[in-house]
Amino acid sequence: MVDETCVKHGRWLRLMGFDTEIFINIEDLKSNTDKRILITRNKKLEKMLKGNIVLLPEMPFWKAMSFIVKKLNLEKFIKPFTRCSRCNREVIKVEKEKVKGKVPYHVYEIQDSFHMCPDCGQIYWGGSHYQNFLRDIKSKIGLDI
Ligand SMILES: [Zn+2]
Repeated sequence: MVDETCVKHGRWLRLMGFDTEIFINIEDLKSNTDKRILITRNKKLEKMLKGNIVLLPEMPFWKAMSFIVKKLNLEKFIKPFTRCSRCNREVIKVEKEKVKGKVPYHVYEIQDSFHMCPDCGQIYWGGSHYQNFLRDIKSKIGLDI
């Protein structure tokens, strides 16, 4: 889980397929430190909360992502685009016909594989943003997947 200091990192972790809750409330953080690992930049939290905490040093975003992945040994478990970046729910495969009219026409024309979040209805597909995502993971985070 992440707190408010690491929301962007949290969304990226979701896009990489990791079950990542974003908690802002201190009580929520407290009641979850035994079940989840907290990633935070808040030094005070490290003292206040007991349990699994990764304190993120001040560093640029991509360096920080690389730090998190290495620290928690996540590299082998990356499953890109299997989880909704908004809701943290695992996305499900949907028939092409079902997304007709819900995605841009040119996307519908050239893509055959679509996934949808069961909570918010966000639709995910392959194509250029997927390729960009993989490229960022490889070049900016420095992973070999
Ligand atoms: Zn969603």
